Amino acid sequence: MRKPIIFGNWKMNKTRKEAEEFVVGIEKVLNGSEKAEYGVATPFTCLEISVNNAKNLKIAAENCHFEESGAYTGEVSVPMLKDINVSHCVIGHSERRSMFNDTDESVNKKAKKLIDAGIVPIVCIGESESEYDSGLTEKVIRTQLNGSLASLNKEEVANIVIAYEPIWAIGTGKSATKEIAQNCCHIVRDEIKNMFGEDAANKVRVQYGGSVKPENIAEYMACEDIDGALIGGASLKVDSFTAIIEATR
Ligand code: 13P
Repeated sequence: MRKPIIFGNWKMNKTRKEAEEFVVGIEKVLNGSEKAEYGVATPFTCLEISVNNAKNLKIAAENCHFEESGAYTGEVSVPMLKDINVSHCVIGHSERRSMFNDTDESVNKKAKKLIDAGIVPIVCIGESESEYDSGLTEKVIRTQLNGSLASLNKEEVANIVIAYEPIWAIGTGKSATKEIAQNCCHIVRDEIKNMFGEDAANKVRVQYGGSVKPENIAEYMACEDIDGALIGGASLKVDSFTAIIEATR
């Protein structure tokens, strides 16, 4: 039985004070006996204050570098994240792939580094609108998984999280239908089976992301291959993230 996992992704939003208020607000709602894991990915500057105020809420970074240390101005390493007790890290988000040159190869290196440090990677994949329109969705999903998970073994993959986020659904309000989301998350699981076998495929958790909100999360969660969600806009306010928690209790 896979434990559902629901994460917010704040992207480039919130000061430390706002982060603290959010975490304190959500902790009032969680009691630790929920059937799902809940968390938020925060900007680097908000990580420490979020970790320090979180008890049941998990805190993720939104990116990392794959090198230990060195001359990489502006980057943050995995040991630095470990140092402040971050438990998860989002990697390969489409915004990072399209604006900051993340590739399947660099995502793979980041995933390996995080796993070795005991931090759970949330590996993002997903096709663009033009790829979707050209019928390339399945090919893109399989290709991105092959590249992004290339150096991992089946035990490692069983413990990671994969977020399927069609780019055309991110921040657009144009969420994928539950049929499309289920079908694509099924393709993810099928490719994990091809690459790492049945056991890893049964254990890996797959999230859907793209305009998820309190009103539609339950229908995604009811799908066989969807184990959770990665949520942007609707994770920014205590009220809407609370409504998401309530809808998935
Ligand atoms: P929205 O929920 O705002 O569409 O963002 C999705 C996303 O990119 C989460 O990583």
